[in-house]
Amino acid sequence: MSGKRVVIIGGGIGGLFTGALLSREGYRVTVLEKNATAGGGLQTFTRGGLTFETGMHILGGLRHGGSVYKICNYLGIMDKIDIVDADHDCMDQIDYLDEGLTYRLPEGREAFGRYLAERFPDERQGISDYLDAIYRIADEVDFFYLRPSSGGFKTYSEEFTMAADRLIEKYIGDARLRELLAYMNPMYGGVRGVTPAYVNALINVLYIDGASRFAGGSSQLAAALCDVIAASGGEVLTGQEVTRLAIDSERRACGVFTASGGHFSGDIYVSAIHPSRLVDLADEGAFMRAYTRRMHSLPNTYSAFIVFVALKPDSFPYINHTCYCQDRFGSVWHLSEDDDRWPRGFMYMTPAERAQGPYATKMIINCLLPYSAVAQWRDTTLGHRGREYERWKERRAARVLNSMERLYSGFGDCVERVWTASPLTIRDYYNQPEGSLYGISKDCNNLMASQIPVWTKVPNLYLTGQNINLHGICGVPLTAMLTSQAIIGDNSLTEKINHYHESYG
Ligand SMILES: Cc1cc2nc3c(=O)[nH]c(=O)nc-3n(C[C@H](O)[C@H](O)[C@H](O)COP(=O)(O)OP(=O)(O)OC[C@H]3O[C@@H](n4cnc5c(N)ncnc54)[C@H](O)[C@@H]3O)c2cc1C
Repeated sequence: MSGKRVVIIGGGIGGLFTGALLSREGYRVTVLEKNATAGGGLQTFTRGGLTFETGMHILGGLRHGGSVYKICNYLGIMDKIDIVDADHDCMDQIDYLDEGLTYRLPEGREAFGRYLAERFPDERQGISDYLDAIYRIADEVDFFYLRPSSGGFKTYSEEFTMAADRLIEKYIGDARLRELLAYMNPMYGGVRGVTPAYVNALINVLYIDGASRFAGGSSQLAAALCDVIAASGGEVLTGQEVTRLAIDSERRACGVFTASGGHFSGDIYVSAIHPSRLVDLADEGAFMRAYTRRMHSLPNTYSAFIVFVALKPDSFPYINHTCYCQDRFGSVWHLSEDDDRWPRGFMYMTPAERAQGPYATKMIINCLLPYSAVAQWRDTTLGHRGREYERWKERRAARVLNSMERLYSGFGDCVERVWTASPLTIRDYYNQPEGSLYGISKDCNNLMASQIPVWTKVPNLYLTGQNINLHGICGVPLTAMLTSQAIIGDNSLTEKINHYHESYG
């Protein structure tokens, strides 16, 4: 047992998983979270008696034997979170409005391939080769499968680093099928010619292998992780916005200060917030100027406009899978564009209640939107953005509901009330630059630039969270593993987790 004190900046998924893993290793952990509730993307909020998830609706890696399942099981929290499988025969539904076409993709590599081959028989071989390719690419990433890293300098295949759209085009000739195979683009913030194929591969493989969702809200996972930290004598303190990271004369981190007057010190510090925010709050001299400049200049994935809908009782069916909708074929790489056609597409879901009946109580509709759409209000704060902003949100919500009406005639009659969130909401809620959904975007044209190691030049300061490696329910806990192992100094955690799974499943 280490007994060392660890101070973690940010109580989102990355901060809480890192805190829980280190707590189990005997570290004394303090997590500092700026918001009134811990969880980051796992936070929920309540409106009109309904609890809405903010940033975690679709889960991958949580089926028995999945990487996130193994981590949660090792932490002893699998039986504390209520998770249901999405429909096995339709994990994702994709609608194309103009063409009036709907695809209902089943989970599982074989079934997924078979379904597509039946609809695109001329592409049978290409579909099979494409699926082989994304599974091959995913297999190159040791940490995705919780395998100890082989160490040394890793070289990746040519396909791994090519653009996601090019990988699809390499195997698929049919323009519609190319489009369809890119449908998960909103789940990773894809940009044509930029997003690397490995990002597309990892996200697709994750969900094809089995999608899940919370029943009763994502905050239960945050609460379970907080309990693991507390059970080992650690603490998760909310309402503690870190405003300064102090660095001593030997360039070691020596304390953090919070806006509410708190001062916390430890042996080790972990930043689980966006790196560009970290460099701003660290004392001068902590980082080389070039590093600071780089953290500020790396592009972020785009943002979103979100409509939270309270549905009238018994009016709209509960749908146990995620739905993606596009105005027409050809839009998938343009979903974030803000013009007269916005929203060209969106994803929507009816999250599960704990005792879910045949009808949905609520719906969440996520529409990609660039930060530039709200830039004129960039200097405002939550609740004080002005009447014009409120009117703008109403107009945007109306456009989204119009698209829903095209999809389900009479949808408007099912709507009790709506609430909305803009890129500014996301920016201020998570302290994410430009309200970015998934943090720093990866660029296949300059892969090294978008790779940020968990180590920093400050020897007792480590990084974690979605900006390092990969975002989402799988990427962030796995990065927490890497950060924890860097602190512990070896791969023993991976071995323990795998051993635990083999022994206790
Ligand atoms: C609208 C939306 C929908 C999404 N849907 C999904 C989904 O369905 N499935 C999926 O896998 N992923 C989804 N994601 C992505 C997922 O939510 C993120 O990848 C994940 O939350 C990132 O975890 P993190 O720990 O890096 O950051 P966060 O979870 O954002 O945590 C960062 C935390 O740090 C806190 N913080 C920031 N600055 C400070 C400071 N100075 N002092 C103290 N605390 C601070 C923040 O308040 C926050 O709690 C979605 C994201 C969004 C925005």
